[in-house]
Amino acid sequence: MTTLFCLREEKFTKRIGCVMILLCCMLGSIHSLYAQDKEKADEYVRQQEQAKKAALMRELDSGVYYMDNGDYKRADKIFRHVLNTVKSVPSDLTYYFGKNSFYMQQYKQSIDWLNKYIQLKGTNGQYSQDAILWKQRAEAEFLKEKSTQAEKVQEVLSMDYNIDCGPTGKVVCPACKGDHVIIHRGAFGNEYKTCPYCNEQGILTCEEYNLLIRGKLQPKTANR
Ligand SMILES: [Zn+2]
Repeated sequence: MTTLFCLREEKFTKRIGCVMILLCCMLGSIHSLYAQDKEKADEYVRQQEQAKKAALMRELDSGVYYMDNGDYKRADKIFRHVLNTVKSVPSDLTYYFGKNSFYMQQYKQSIDWLNKYIQLKGTNGQYSQDAILWKQRAEAEFLKEKSTQAEKVQEVLSMDYNIDCGPTGKVVCPACKGDHVIIHRGAFGNEYKTCPYCNEQGILTCEEYNLLIRGKLQPKTANR
């Protein structure tokens, strides 16, 4: 009787073992199927994003075309649409939108975006010299306008957007202009302080730069 029971128990254990192995195999194949599907889905999302970006860049080009042909209103509409659709604003768009804003007689907005381009590209960017010229014109018009107190429509300012700093992802710190030193001019002579925002080379990461222009970058050192 005991022997019979033992034999039965052994059979039962073997059966359980088989079922467990089968279950493990099933789970394994479900898992690998799931992983394959996820990879495909990720690839699909990547392709969709690339296609969306390419379409936006084409739209941006058409905006430049309209601007160059004097249809500033149409260009403005296109640039605004791109601004509100991209995840982070391409640096060339800061130049185009700044220049077109001049033509739209939105001088403060023009100065703001051209400044952004100059901050991002320094004096060596493709449009740096033009950006400096357009900014000077916008500043002159802005001063005239200020004296006449003209009513203006709500302007679109760059601090509300996330700016793409380009492939290096680095920007010369606008707080110290890359010197890593801030000079406070006082009655008893100048005071020199280490810039609390950038690294020793006077450089900010793109993330830090975007925070700084919104006044949200925390100083690294306690500078008093
Ligand atoms: Zn700095």
